Amino acid sequence: MSDIINLLPDAVANQIAAGEVIQRPASAVKELLENAIDAGADTIKLVIKDAGKALIQVIDNGRGMSPTDARMCFERHSTSKISKAVDLFSIRTMGFRGEALASIAAIAQVELKTKPFSDEMGTVLLIEGSKVKSQETEALAAGTTFNVRNLYFNTPARRNFLKSNLIENRHIIDEFTRVAMLNPEISFSYFNDERQILLLPASNLRQRITGLMGRNYQEKLLKVEEKTELIGISGFVGKPEIAKKTRGEQFLFVNRRFIKHPYLHHAIVNAFDEIIPNSYFPSYFINLDIDPAQIDVNIHPTKTEVNFQDERVIYSILRAAVRMALGKYSLSPTFEFDQDAFLNFNPPAPGVEIKQPVLKINADYNPFETSKATNTPKQYQNTAFRVERTEPNKIRAIENIYEEVSRVKLEDFQSEKENDSKNISFESEAKMFQFDRRYIVTTIKSNLLLIDQQAAHERILYDRFSSSFDKGKNYSQGLLFPEKLNFSNADIELLGEIYDDLHILGFEISRTKENEFTLTACPSDLMNENPQKIIDQIIDQYKSNLMQLKIDKRQNLLLSMCRNAAIKAGTYLQEEEMHVLLRDLFVSSAPEFSPFGKKIIKSFSNLELIKQFNA
Ligand code: ADP
Ligand code: MG
Repeated sequence: MSDIINLLPDAVANQIAAGEVIQRPASAVKELLENAIDAGADTIKLVIKDAGKALIQVIDNGRGMSPTDARMCFERHSTSKISKAVDLFSIRTMGFRGEALASIAAIAQVELKTKPFSDEMGTVLLIEGSKVKSQETEALAAGTTFNVRNLYFNTPARRNFLKSNLIENRHIIDEFTRVAMLNPEISFSYFNDERQILLLPASNLRQRITGLMGRNYQEKLLKVEEKTELIGISGFVGKPEIAKKTRGEQFLFVNRRFIKHPYLHHAIVNAFDEIIPNSYFPSYFINLDIDPAQIDVNIHPTKTEVNFQDERVIYSILRAAVRMALGKYSLSPTFEFDQDAFLNFNPPAPGVEIKQPVLKINADYNPFETSKATNTPKQYQNTAFRVERTEPNKIRAIENIYEEVSRVKLEDFQSEKENDSKNISFESEAKMFQFDRRYIVTTIKSNLLLIDQQAAHERILYDRFSSSFDKGKNYSQGLLFPEKLNFSNADIELLGEIYDDLHILGFEISRTKENEFTLTACPSDLMNENPQKIIDQIIDQYKSNLMQLKIDKRQNLLLSMCRNAAIKAGTYLQEEEMHVLLRDLFVSSAPEFSPFGKKIIKSFSNLELIKQFNA
């Protein structure tokens, strides 16, 4: 039998390996930026076209390459950074396997223009699918430019695998942010589809963070600093009031490499314990300096995982360092988080006598007893709980819910509806009360119903906001005092994407300065919220949805709005509010499920309950 084993041609081997190293355009961006930094550049420009699929350009003024190095740098395992295997453990530069350029060149059309400071002339080299197409001598400025065009041109399967431009751009912004944050002494600029997104002059870390995250960070950073024999900790944490509901603004670096480390993340979050609510994440920008011998870096270039030998000790030191930073900053009582209604009390004026509270108990009160339905209080007639005219297809919705919650009979709803027979809605006269500030408890005939208040309101708002989109009509209300808004540069990008839709939903935002916005109107459902917070949360939510769900832009925005505008678990509701909420719920498009797919209603029949007691 003849031999059948062949060595894969280099180009093919490179293509396969390339897919691993360069998983998406952002990976190429990261490698090129890191190379520019390793080359000692102090000015770096990044230009992106079509989310990196058409062009990734990185221009640096670093040390440049000789004509031979210009060719060599594309060879696999070509690197000027390691010569012995042991170096792997002490390496502190960015790249270290000499793989990145070989990989990029295997799957793109790359033009390299480079000239060392001391050389007269520079080199222009074209390489495509690992094949050198041309190499010429040209007069160039000192430094290096990489033009990476048509990434994945010869691996269409991978190209098709890429996500939308929005998502790929987001990954690029993330990589750029990490690199720029670590190198505040280097000046960066970033252009996306001909637009300048960022211009970051050389400065210090505090200013760099502000440049990247937005001007509202200026006064909001607390310095973290600790030096022990084992580890050096330096950087900043955000003051508690800028904690967010998504994990976006957490940056942990080890020896100036970005890492994800849930355990150490926890150390930082834990230091904020009882200072910010559980569902919020503090912002942090922290670098750990540690002897490379003490850590085990998974040396796959796309991995961001590191193991520490003394993990527990580092946990304690890190937590203590963050605690200290927080302690130095005396916490002022200006929090604006969703406060429990219990905490909202007004202290009596000085001199006012405080009387012993008297408990009044209505011994005849029976929560399940039916009484005349209360009218909608005025304040709700025009807000979140507004009921719209019922349409015929809503009857279907009620039938559906009837099937869903089973046992509850349609006639039961109907017997309790208003006398207008066309207006089939849930006009229950049953008593309602709130359990755990989370569920509305009521009865329909011989059934006990538990309704998740937040999920129910999300459904109602979803219908309302989507009808705004459909009809182009919003429930906007002008603000008496226009509000100034500030956003991070990345958020401004996102804001641009959802701007028109936000407008349809009732937000009127105008840009007053480069980095400053004014809000003049707000959807009436959100009138009582802090607008900066609500828009931040919408953007936040939108961001995290982008990463998790494959949903279209509007849908994403709708969901974000519902999540944020809905009354939350923990909010006290008056009985009238519960009535209106349920009435709206039962005329909504899908009363049984929230727009997030969560069950809204649970029903228990009397028989079911009786069984429970007989068990
Ligand atoms: P690594 O960075 O791991 O060494 P790369 O494939 O990223 O591997 O780069 C290979 C080599 O090419 C580098 O070691 C460096 O010598 C050279 N090089 C790459 N980019 C630049 C640049 N922007 N300026 C100067 N030299 C560069
Ligand atoms: Mg490199």
